[in-house]
Formats: sequence, structure tokens, C-alpha cells
Amino acid sequence: MLQGRDVANRTSTKSTYLFWTDEELEVIRSHPDFTAQELCELLPDRTVESIRRKRSRIGRFSYPDDSVCVLCRERPIWTESNKARHMMLCKGCFLKEMEKRNKEARHYNALRQSEFKLRRKGLKR
Ligand SMILES: [Zn+2]
Repeated sequence: MLQGRDVANRTSTKSTYLFWTDEELEVIRSHPDFTAQELCELLPDRTVESIRRKRSRIGRFSYPDDSVCVLCRERPIWTESNKARHMMLCKGCFLKEMEKRNKEARHYNALRQSEFKLRRKGLKR
């Protein structure tokens, strides 16, 4: 169904913009783990770029409440957290993921520091 704003857009532009159907939007929403390239194969009328743009737009607003976590595919996405919602993870997977990232960041920092020390040692000699 067209909304008022869409109708106005249609009459005010001469572009050949195809309005997204509910079916097409549903395809995007129901495959949060697909790449835009993969979605493109399901949506022959759309380009990869337009799918990417559309997805970032609808993703920013609201995902349906029944969306499940892309990792465990069991629990619902933790929508209270902006970050978790953006990553499409449930609370448990989000916390695990952040823990993993923090750990990796610490390792990386340690590595950088030891390299820095080695370099300084090398310069002194
Ligand atoms: Zn999960």
C-alpha cells in the first residue's frame, strides 16, 4: 500500500524508482544474515547497492519483534541495547561477543606494546 509521502515522491520525481513491495521488504527482513549480494539473487529487480541502502534504512528503524539472534537463532534480539540490536544479537550472544572483542583488543594492545618496546630497544643500540 502506498503512503502519502510515497505518492508525493512519485509525482515529484521523474526517476524510474521502483517502490519496494512488502514482499521484497519481507525478504530483506527475514534474512538478516545474508549479504546484499545473496539477497540480490532473491530479489532480481534490485541491485546490490539498493538492497544495501534499503537494509541500512529499515535496520535503523525497527526490526520486527520476532527477529531472532543471528548467532544462536533461538533467542530474540536484545532490542534494549542499540549496539546489540544493530549487531542483531540476543543478550547472551552480545555479551559473549563483546567479551571476545575485549579480549582480542587486549591481546592486540599487548602485542603492540611489546613491539614498541622492541623497537625502542633496537634504536638505543
Ligand atoms: Zn543469540
